[in-house]
Amino acid sequence: MICLGIESSAHTFGISIVSDSDGKCNILANERHSVTTKEGGLIPRELAVHHQEYAKPILESALKKAGVKLEDIDVISFSQGPGIAPALQAGAITARVLALKYGKPLLGVNHCVGHIEIGKALSGSRDPIVVYVSGANTQIIGYEAGKYRVYGETLDIGLGNLLDSFGRALGMGFPAGPTLDKIYFEKKNYVPLPYTVKGMDLAFAGLQTAAEQKIGKVPKEDLVYSLLHNAFAMVTEVSERALAHTEKTGLLLTGGVAASKALREMLQRMCDARGCKFFVPPFEACVDSGLLPAWLGLIEHKAGVRMKLEDTAVNQRQRTDQVQVTWA
Ligand code: MG
Repeated sequence: MICLGIESSAHTFGISIVSDSDGKCNILANERHSVTTKEGGLIPRELAVHHQEYAKPILESALKKAGVKLEDIDVISFSQGPGIAPALQAGAITARVLALKYGKPLLGVNHCVGHIEIGKALSGSRDPIVVYVSGANTQIIGYEAGKYRVYGETLDIGLGNLLDSFGRALGMGFPAGPTLDKIYFEKKNYVPLPYTVKGMDLAFAGLQTAAEQKIGKVPKEDLVYSLLHNAFAMVTEVSERALAHTEKTGLLLTGGVAASKALREMLQRMCDARGCKFFVPPFEACVDSGLLPAWLGLIEHKAGVRMKLEDTAVNQRQRTDQVQVTWA
């Protein structure tokens, strides 16, 4: 079976074409283009314009790379939510047009569950605690009785949003994560900053405000080090508690912030200390791409999930734990 998946929930427009053999994911094509800005920040309507502009060239290059025609595709899927509404719309419209024109089944899938499933498929982890950290999302997730349960999550902004906002305050462009991560390893002095864990949940806004108030008063490098150190330690603490509680033996890190070497090192150390396996999928499966909806669309379609056109409206607030997992 071949599925074409369209991702457009935030800064990235992507189209991937995947097939399966023996339950394994074969990537035939994975084309994408992301919005970046010199001054930082994203504007929703500009994302929609970007996605509409790139829809045709990305589709053409994906089909060419995969060596298939639209007629060969068995199912078309797209990220239905959560995300930024105008951005989501752009992908949904592309998906509907293609599905109608070529008479293909159409599936709107959950972006976060897409991260989990492609992460599992490409890292070989089976039943992990998932640490999903991206610009907008920060969730500690585990499968239990038909759903991916959210054991802990951010109460305000996503971890990536924290990094990008703080980077912007320091005059860095978007995305700021890679630059901040580099500074972290220059081993600076720790500056006390808020550390906010509430039960299993996290809050980053206070940390951001406190760090921004210190800009110009303490060395920039010390601030970057301390902000990353606290934010990542908060995520690590909650992840460890989820592992201890569920007795799961694997931890899967995914989402755009999985690119952070600092975060990976901290989680790896925690996993080593408790004899737990640590999985990070290949980078192209961590960041937003068409791989997420393509693989999830394929396995959902195989499990018999079908949607009418009227069920394919985007849902910018759709949650991970609203999705009934029928394919496990
Ligand atoms: Mg994402």
